[in-house]
Amino acid sequence: MTTIFTGHIRAKQDSSDGICDALVVNSEGKIVAIGDAKKLVARNLEAALVPLDGWIMPGLIEPHGHPATAAIFLSEKVVDIRPVVVPTAEGVLAALRAALSNAQGAVYANGWDALLQRGLPEPSIQLLDELAGATPLVIVHNSGHSVYFNTAAANEIGLDRNTPNPVGASYVRDANGDLTGVALEAGAVETVCGPLLAAARADMPALLAAHFADLARRGYTTVADLSWNPALNPIVNAMRDAGTLPLRLRWYETSRPNGVAAAHGEGDAYSRQVGVKTWSDGSPWVGNIATSFAYLDTQATRDLGLEPGHIGTANYTSDELLDIASPYAAGGWQLACHAHGDLAIDATLDVYETLIKRHNLTDHRFRLEHVGAMTPAQFSRAASLSVTVSLFVDHITYWGEVLVNDLFGAEHGGAWADAGAAFAAGHRATFHNDGWVTPNEAFRNMAVAETRTSRNGFVMPGGTPVARAQALAAHSTNAAWQLFSEHEIGALEPGLYADFIVVDRDPLTATPEELAQTQVRASYLGGKKVA
Ligand SMILES: [Zn+2]
Repeated sequence: MTTIFTGHIRAKQDSSDGICDALVVNSEGKIVAIGDAKKLVARNLEAALVPLDGWIMPGLIEPHGHPATAAIFLSEKVVDIRPVVVPTAEGVLAALRAALSNAQGAVYANGWDALLQRGLPEPSIQLLDELAGATPLVIVHNSGHSVYFNTAAANEIGLDRNTPNPVGASYVRDANGDLTGVALEAGAVETVCGPLLAAARADMPALLAAHFADLARRGYTTVADLSWNPALNPIVNAMRDAGTLPLRLRWYETSRPNGVAAAHGEGDAYSRQVGVKTWSDGSPWVGNIATSFAYLDTQATRDLGLEPGHIGTANYTSDELLDIASPYAAGGWQLACHAHGDLAIDATLDVYETLIKRHNLTDHRFRLEHVGAMTPAQFSRAASLSVTVSLFVDHITYWGEVLVNDLFGAEHGGAWADAGAAFAAGHRATFHNDGWVTPNEAFRNMAVAETRTSRNGFVMPGGTPVARAQALAAHSTNAAWQLFSEHEIGALEPGLYADFIVVDRDPLTATPEELAQTQVRASYLGGKKVA
């Protein structure tokens, strides 16, 4: 059965002309033609006609998400204290106390951010013991890069002063060697959250379905998971087989020291592995990104516990990163490495360059993730290595003035997440929201990459704004390419799947402010309405 969808369509996202009004989709859910409705209807007289009210554009692609973890962290199993939900320190403490007073067992909260929720006390093990007593309490920092726990939570998982640190992660200890109640980076965060993740396992079909449905309503037709657990694949496959999967999944396995690369060839157009995730450094909001420049000495940095002149260091040395990444690169997988500080980016590019030469890699599309402090020269170097970048431009929305006034100053903070420099260097750059860290609002990402203005109206003093076509490509064509999926998705072109959304305005001509407010009216996956 052929279907003709009609509405306002821009065949190309990069020109102000070329508006057409019909999209012809075949029984396999693929686009076979795009153009003038009268002509296409005359040519396909038996086709079903579906008039759509609004602008038809490619479905949004989130190239760096964490839907499996977000499905748990945004569920009712976790107290939501993210700054986008609870803006003040008083609100955070009230939410924790309320949850603890009703607690049936351990309490998990997610979203602590002392830089946005000003006045939060130091999240020490003593404070959490005072708050929770014998109830295990675990509070995850909004970045996901650190977690705070009390004595009862440590006891529950058998964590004590003698527990060794995982590679690239740590349980912070005081001068006496006692746990401070702070765990840093993925290997330690996962362990502290272990009971929550284990308890959620049985509910994952419902949790994933709810989170995928939310993403579909927001206009995402493909999401990448940068920390996917392959044990969840049967859930996704069951949704696919039942016709209830509302989006496509592209996933990255989490790298492990002495890891073994998975075989290629599993999966399909709905869901498959595209790469392996590695880490270089941590979070700017915690103090562990590897930079050539120091943090400012401000009240905010002192409240974070950073010494005057603090400079963060990477989680891994270049040699460690090379050792971890090498088997996956040899196995032909794309690597995606978390790197924020300029030194972490240099170190990662060194590792990538070594791996590219060592394994004679050509179409590797190795990725750098977030790249907050990446400089124009580093964007050029990455481009010359065919390394691609995904930027967390939403840092500007929420932390724009924090980056400049509290953490790094105008020179280094002002040019944060410099998407314009990435495009100028020739990158097919993408934007992302990193799972649950900020709300999945792709149109706002695009707008902020253009205006470089925070939600409070603070204009970043550095960096380069992007053009509209670049912004749109960052969540469509470029993202499809980064996910090795440009032969399937990312544009409204014959031969690709009819993954599209209907929005209430022309995304090419809206002002940045209007673009950020774009409403998604419907979402189609392979020509089938899913939201
Ligand atoms: Zn991430």
